[in-house]
Amino acid sequence: VKASNSLSFSLQAKMSRPVQARRLEGIDKNIWVEFVKLAAAYSKANLGQGFPDFPAPDFLTEAFTRALSEGNHMLHQYTRAFGHPPLVKVLAQFFEKLLGRDLDPMTNVMVTVGAYQALFCCFQALVDEGDEVIIIEPFFDCYEPMVKMAGGTPVFVSLRPNPPKDGKLMSSADWQLDPAELASKFNERTKAIVLNSPNNPLGKVFSRGELGLIAELCVKHDVLCISDEVYEWLVYDGKQHIRIASLQGMWDRTVIIGSAGKTFSATGWKVGWVVGPNRLLQHLRTVHQNSVYHCATIAQEAVAQGFQRELMLYGKPESYFVQLPKELQQKRDWLVQSLDGVGMKPIVPEGTYFLVADISQFKSDVPDAPNSDEPYDYRFAKWMVKNKGLAAIPLSAFYSNAHKNNYTNFIRFCFAKEEATLKAANDILQKWKQEKTS
Ligand code: PMP
Repeated sequence: VKASNSLSFSLQAKMSRPVQARRLEGIDKNIWVEFVKLAAAYSKANLGQGFPDFPAPDFLTEAFTRALSEGNHMLHQYTRAFGHPPLVKVLAQFFEKLLGRDLDPMTNVMVTVGAYQALFCCFQALVDEGDEVIIIEPFFDCYEPMVKMAGGTPVFVSLRPNPPKDGKLMSSADWQLDPAELASKFNERTKAIVLNSPNNPLGKVFSRGELGLIAELCVKHDVLCISDEVYEWLVYDGKQHIRIASLQGMWDRTVIIGSAGKTFSATGWKVGWVVGPNRLLQHLRTVHQNSVYHCATIAQEAVAQGFQRELMLYGKPESYFVQLPKELQQKRDWLVQSLDGVGMKPIVPEGTYFLVADISQFKSDVPDAPNSDEPYDYRFAKWMVKNKGLAAIPLSAFYSNAHKNNYTNFIRFCFAKEEATLKAANDILQKWKQEKTS
């Protein structure tokens, strides 16, 4: 009797009901998991995922080491949930300068586990079932699943490429919104628009006119703006990054998102922040305190010291926020030349550390498979890393399913890389070009 009882118990113990929460339906695939694995296995030059392969600046790593070794053992313990006080204080001071308004460090700033968690808090705190959220394509891929997990409906509007002028290379500025199309996406269900300037993956830096148009529509339809500005310091050719929160009527309805990963070339630290009005941030704090609660104290302490240095050197040539874009602009120009030289036409980015290139002239090496479910650029990027050792990311990964197939002739490279990595990429491209012509 005993044995049969335990048998029926073990049969019952096996679960048969569905375990997956409905909110996860259709969002299980993630481009980075797949392409990071491929790059690790095959790449000789990894220009795929967006992270610098050069060291973070000495002043930052030294600040971390000091924080570890100076005997303040409390830096190994919890700090304030919504941000380590020295970090929120210096962020408030810094953004007061940038935005030209007074900020309260305790209510207008919140520290998050990277910009990723800042985005998650925004969508969870501000988007309800049935709300629509406008996303400008191409977009950083996590916006779509995050909106869906909050119960919202993403509504997509694409930047449209215009032919470049006078036989020049195309620029990210040639990709523009159609004002009428953008306006048509706003309605009474629209809760928010996600803006990402400078934009990953194109490198587009939205102009004052473009931001003005978005701001006007937000005010007219009483819509929030989630402004992902993680590449705020990475702008080139004397261009200026304009913060949409500084435009009329926008402060009250905008959350600004930033990342120490991008700002100080330390993506692994996962320190990010949100700056905005308390009426919005109070709800982000509710999500934060009930999910993550807190980010690593010691990393926050070191980032605070990094910002204190930058505040002192603001606008000066020694400032990292001046030096980094200078160095990256050289790397951009180098990769532009390298790609243009082999006929993989680059779209010259105005900002970020990404560059999108046209693969049309290389298509004969990777023939199309018309019946495949996978967009062509995915197959091209996979073939390229496996056969040539060069890792990049397919552009269609940054589009919604409905629009993916319109953009399968491009791949994205990251140029925040050591000279040796960029040279290795150039060697691969040159050799490939020679093989094609010989
Ligand atoms: N937003 C954009 C546009 C990004 O490109 C990234 C990182 N690739 C993030 C947010 C996430 O930043 P973090 O690493 O600080 O979480």
